[in-house]
Amino acid sequence: MNNTIAQLTKVIDNSQKVLILSHVRPDGDSAGSSTAFYHILKQWHTPKEATLTFPDVLPAFLQWLPQVQEAKVLSEQSKETLKCWTQEHDLIVCLDTSLMERSGAIAPLLKNHQNKLLVIDHHKDFSPYGRWLFHNAQASSTCELVSQLAFHWHDQQLFTWNSAIATCLYTGLYTDTGGFRFRNTSEQTLWTAAKLVSLGAEPQKIAYHLTQNTPLYRLRFLGTVLKDFLRFLPQYRTAYAMIPRSLQLAFQLQPGDTSEIVDYVLRIQGVNLAITLREEEPNKIRLSFRSIGDFPANELAKKHFNGGGHKNAAGGELNTSLQEAETYLLNVLQQYQNQLQYEPYETTSIA
Ligand code: 5GP
Ligand code: MN
Repeated sequence: MNNTIAQLTKVIDNSQKVLILSHVRPDGDSAGSSTAFYHILKQWHTPKEATLTFPDVLPAFLQWLPQVQEAKVLSEQSKETLKCWTQEHDLIVCLDTSLMERSGAIAPLLKNHQNKLLVIDHHKDFSPYGRWLFHNAQASSTCELVSQLAFHWHDQQLFTWNSAIATCLYTGLYTDTGGFRFRNTSEQTLWTAAKLVSLGAEPQKIAYHLTQNTPLYRLRFLGTVLKDFLRFLPQYRTAYAMIPRSLQLAFQLQPGDTSEIVDYVLRIQGVNLAITLREEEPNKIRLSFRSIGDFPANELAKKHFNGGGHKNAAGGELNTSLQEAETYLLNVLQQYQNQLQYEPYETTSIA
């Protein structure tokens, strides 16, 4: 059950050293909410000592976030360091992470420190952990939840806003809603975005960093995948793209460079379900699922692909070869053929 904002406020007030964690393979929401929280704690009326961390290196399109270069990468630390961090901080804040296991290398150590764990998350498939909780599956993003807390804390004069905080929070709103396009874009989301703009977030600058300013090799890679590695299955209203390791090596891809592909696959006319199968290592395939309309991508990911996520955006993993993963996927899709037959939006004529 959720704690009240007053209870969370007291927890922060009573802490001095705060460790900030989020989920593996950071995205705009985990990076934005964590970095915003870091700034909020530094701007707190009694400033906190905060350690900002990410389980893995941030993708290049997020490395411009204000002061994000101060973050430590968990996968680059020794076990001793991680152990020391969990012990020496008196509060651990875990953001945008639906399962404790998704916090990366530090996850096994958290089990013994659940009594100092504050969790802020918006995933539907959330499995409760930690001692204090602020969870809402209706929120577009963890950044929307952190904004809600921050508006309250500011009204209570507990910290001072700056444009860095507004920028980080707007980033997570933007990325988790696909640029305010997905169905999780609510009135509350747009209201929050407007308020963040009034507090110094610059929509054009943030969109530039997130969606333009793309290194040419990434666009050429996208072109190659769409041209040679994409398969459309009209009978399932599904399209999928295969991303072999050899292709990633040939284009010298960096972490996060494949994340946008699935969104392009979903743009195809007649597609309700888009999938990418990325060979992360030999016999380790990461899958991304995106759907339009009612098809629950998270249920598919959970039931057949050891994963989870949101209704329209989910991920999973298979420990097989890429070829085996494709065969398995095609088998699974057969079971969903009927469920995938729908028009996401009826065309209505305006009289
Ligand atoms: P992506 O395709 O961008 O990796 O993930 C889309 C969504 O699914 C994100 O909200 C992410 O948190 C969730 N997700 C991705 N992979 C997994 C996974 O292995 N397990 C669970 N529970 N959720 C995942
Ligand atoms: Mn999120």
